[in-house]
Amino acid sequence: MPNPFDNALLQLNRASLAKSFSPELIERLRHPNREIRVSIPIRMDDGTLRVFEGYRVEHSNARGPYKGGIRYHQDTDINEVKALALWMTMKCAVANIPMGGGKGGITVNPKELSKGELERLSRGWVHALSDVLGPKKDVPAPDVNTTPEIMAWMADEFGKITGDTSGAMITGKPLVNGGSEGRGTATAQGGFYVFGALREKLGLPQMCRVVVQGFGNAGDHAAELWTQAGHAVIAVSDSKGAIVSDAGLDIAAVTAHKKATGSVVGLAGTRMISNEELLALDCDLFIPAALENQIRADNVAVIRAKVIMELANGPTTPEADDALFARGIAVVPDILFNAGGVTVSTFEWEQNLNGQHWTEAEVFGKLRTIMEREATNIFDTAQSLRTDLRRAAFVVALGRLEEAMRESHD
Ligand code: GLU
Repeated sequence: MPNPFDNALLQLNRASLAKSFSPELIERLRHPNREIRVSIPIRMDDGTLRVFEGYRVEHSNARGPYKGGIRYHQDTDINEVKALALWMTMKCAVANIPMGGGKGGITVNPKELSKGELERLSRGWVHALSDVLGPKKDVPAPDVNTTPEIMAWMADEFGKITGDTSGAMITGKPLVNGGSEGRGTATAQGGFYVFGALREKLGLPQMCRVVVQGFGNAGDHAAELWTQAGHAVIAVSDSKGAIVSDAGLDIAAVTAHKKATGSVVGLAGTRMISNEELLALDCDLFIPAALENQIRADNVAVIRAKVIMELANGPTTPEADDALFARGIAVVPDILFNAGGVTVSTFEWEQNLNGQHWTEAEVFGKLRTIMEREATNIFDTAQSLRTDLRRAAFVVALGRLEEAMRESHD
């Protein structure tokens, strides 16, 4: 598999060729401000001790406190976390929210842990990193396999260690623990606003045939939202495989089946296909909502979608980007399309700092304004630079970073 951080650096370079920026800015952003690795010793339920490897990469705080989720995955390593942190810097700049970029992780398959072990591990991550975290310093959030409940444990642990119980040191908390209305669905919702702003411009029909790869917190809500709006979600997948229904899936039934069995696979009335076959389905819109490196030089030729919108981080490699651009298949990049999550996270942080609670209508109203504005801005930038949407999104982000960093390159 390609190293995601190499891909992120390549994207950065390519954007700096699409429009010229100070070489010092690019050089600065090639290097995360700091990379922290910690050992997290946990007492397992059987009495044995296991030590897990945890990370926090603080990429840039030029525009505000480091911001970004924490990923629990057996394949997570420092290179993945570095890439994700760089993308967070770009994403927050794209959304024009007052946040920098960071990311965290633990190399673990959380599905193999008991709830008690998961809680001790999550508290252990905060314990190991409590010096660097804080509402004005570094504000984590959920990512792959991390939940509102985990955020609540982490907020509680931070409160115990530091005395700061405002909750503003972490976002994506449950509502009762200071979470924001709308945060659970914000990533998909933000993407849906981007889709609304760009659908016609990208030549998509009014009613689309949609394929969603991944059925985690982003993918399941996306499948739901697109279905509710009348589009046909013809296939979804998870790590066990994919299911297809040419007439469109009943997403409520898929969700119930996944809850009952742990997977989308096997739902009555659907046909099972492999994850490779999913990529090759004939559809209008393909939404990767799983992990990075899914669309690569070696499989890009099978893609038949008209447009790809990235709800996952880093699903398309730079080589695949070029091949898709050459074939006229637009890729709406992660740093725009999935920025709704961190945008509502920032609303949550703001509410916690000011002791407020906004209604869902307020949250989504503000989110919509941001997503539609920046989608249009990036589309226009791509047109005027005659480049792809990813380079254009990086160009918009780099312009804002350059302004913020003008006085502080060292
Ligand atoms: N993990 C999400 C992302 O990749 C959300 C980050 C956040 O809310 O800070 O954008």
